[in-house]
Amino acid sequence: MKIISSLPLLREQVRNIRKTDKRIGFVPTMGYLHNGHLSLIQKAREENDFVIISIYVNPLQFGPKEDLEKYPCDLKRDKKLVQSEGVDIIFTPEVEEVYSTNFSTFVNVEGLTEGLCGISRPDHFKGVTTIVTKLFNMVQPDRAYFGQKDAQQALVIRRLTKDLNFPIQIKILPTIREKDGLAMSSRNVYLSPKERDTAPLLYQSLLLAEKIIKNGEKDRQVVLSEIIRFLSKESRISIDYLEIVDTEVLKPLSNLKGEILIAGAILIGNIRLIDNIILEV
Ligand code: AMP
Repeated sequence: MKIISSLPLLREQVRNIRKTDKRIGFVPTMGYLHNGHLSLIQKAREENDFVIISIYVNPLQFGPKEDLEKYPCDLKRDKKLVQSEGVDIIFTPEVEEVYSTNFSTFVNVEGLTEGLCGISRPDHFKGVTTIVTKLFNMVQPDRAYFGQKDAQQALVIRRLTKDLNFPIQIKILPTIREKDGLAMSSRNVYLSPKERDTAPLLYQSLLLAEKIIKNGEKDRQVVLSEIIRFLSKESRISIDYLEIVDTEVLKPLSNLKGEILIAGAILIGNIRLIDNIILEV
């Protein structure tokens, strides 16, 4: 396993792999890896000859009041975690190499990025799509792996890949959870024990919505009111959004039918947690 920070060095490696018939699987991450990341890496290992992961905390996708400075970071720990996963290259670019002075080119996906997380994080997806485009150009993978946990992000990247004609297959894999249902996230380490106890309520609220819908409720507003009531009982939680949308264009559905995405974001203290489930109605 090589750890490469220099882009010219990465390019040299990629050029050599590309000379052969080998397929490159790519897993972009912001590090502080957990089993969610490892599930993507394992799938990439299964489906490709060569596996590259990137670890890069992308400043462009954080808002001015967000947790960029505090984002957990421990390359030694990450290295250990992936050692036995068959990763060929960990790419850890330097910020100066990614965003040179006077950097001024951005990639923006319209529509899909406007609702859900896009409402309270207006420039977030522009940051994500810009860095993913850059990483795709650097790594030149055949397949790239993303988690359902960030459902909106995964769909936005699928759109971007199609719209910009990247010859890359986008794979979206299921959310990996803790035993109590909490979706794994690098940010979970910042939850205090009490906050950690509260955190699974987000997933429970999604399951409650599922149950209500399966019992025959088709009115989005009724379902949302019920789960808002459920979460509002816990004073540690403030709701950023809870929404039910279709899985194609992510628009709120007044009448619930077909494939639907129930998604939410909450704040516990100043930790923002997101989660979602997909249902066929
Ligand atoms: P991040 O390091 O948070 O930017 O995440 C890197 C990739 O891992 C993204 O594609 C995420 O959707 C994915 N991911 C994060 N958490 C999970 C999880 N609990 N289950 C599956 N995939 C995840």
